[in-house]
Amino acid sequence: MNLLENYSLKKLNTFGIDASAKYFLEVNSVADVQAFLEDKKINTELRLILGGGSNMLFTKNFDGVVVKNCIKGIELLKEDSENYYVKAGAGESWHGFVMNCINNNYAGVENLSLIPGSVGAAPIQNIGAYGVEQKEVFFELEAIDLKEKKSVTINKSDCQFGYRDSIFKREAKGKYIIASVTFKLFKKPKLNTSYGAINQEMEKMGVKEISIATISQAVCNIRKSKLPNPEVLGNAGSFFKNPTISAEQFQAIKKKFPDLVAYPSDVNFKLAAGWLIEQCGWKGKHVGNTGVHKDQALVLVNYGNANGSEVFELSGKIMESVKEKFNVELEREVVVV
Ligand SMILES: Cc1cc2nc3c(=O)[nH]c(=O)nc-3n(C[C@H](O)[C@H](O)[C@H](O)COP(=O)(O)OP(=O)(O)OC[C@H]3O[C@@H](n4cnc5c(N)ncnc54)[C@H](O)[C@@H]3O)c2cc1C
Repeated sequence: MNLLENYSLKKLNTFGIDASAKYFLEVNSVADVQAFLEDKKINTELRLILGGGSNMLFTKNFDGVVVKNCIKGIELLKEDSENYYVKAGAGESWHGFVMNCINNNYAGVENLSLIPGSVGAAPIQNIGAYGVEQKEVFFELEAIDLKEKKSVTINKSDCQFGYRDSIFKREAKGKYIIASVTFKLFKKPKLNTSYGAINQEMEKMGVKEISIATISQAVCNIRKSKLPNPEVLGNAGSFFKNPTISAEQFQAIKKKFPDLVAYPSDVNFKLAAGWLIEQCGWKGKHVGNTGVHKDQALVLVNYGNANGSEVFELSGKIMESVKEKFNVELEREVVVV
């Protein structure tokens, strides 16, 4: 076990925040996790599991042990007439896993192409994009219960997936380290091109026959043109969730703001948080070393040497102004550490 002290996390979070960990450790196997849990010196109560750091905001140095999950491996476990069951190590890159699926003709994750981060974090907030959520292909996961020090298998209903939500963000927060995730992928693709500009992009690409590969390529092209690359401009993607409000609340806001951008969601309405933020005048604003992206009001950025508390403060001001103007509470999607 290679334990490092006072370790810089700057290159390990996509915001590029210069925070450090008192202790830092990489785990490459379940056995490494067990060894860590048996080590009395470093198995302190204060620990943080890190994947790709693409959904995190460090507001201070971490005064405990940061465990970076590097457990690798992608394996086809079994197949039946309709599905492939594919197990991937939590430390695999999500996009790498998606590419593996495309190359093997395993359908279901093509719309989730190019989402940064690791496989192990995908169930944590039930990642989603372009009309698809990972819960649609999730089968089960293997995790190590950090208190009981034993491996457990957690099935789909126990994960309680919701919009950018799961049990791992609530009751089970910090309870497990996810070691691998098994996905149930499709032999017959359910091609979903209804969302965003996928069809338009495929037309531009000159696509004659739609496939999971062409959808994946179209999604990659759109994402590259719309979202800031964290390697160039530090960010963690959407900083806030799209708020869900009741039909009654929706009607009241719509009366005052006829251009309100909203999507029906069950009996409620989901509002476009980016639109709300833009209406409050935040889009493109620089505040010290941080700010709101010029094209994507939902994305907060680090213009250079921002510290996490500056970004956090800015997010608080945005939340206040949205509350004041629309009487809507925004919720942070990013994990604040
Ligand atoms: C440019 C950009 C675009 C993005 N677009 C999208 C998008 O379209 N859709 C979307 O849903 N998200 C998006 N995100 C957010 C992010 O990519 C996802 O949330 C991703 O799943 C985070 O993965 P990660 O490995 O980086 O997690 P981290 O940021 O490292 O961790 C996130 C949380 O998961 C926990 N965690 C991580 N790994 C494990 C593990 N193995 N076991 C237990 N807990 C763990 C951490 O403790 C933390 O609480 C985007 C981010 C960026 C920077």
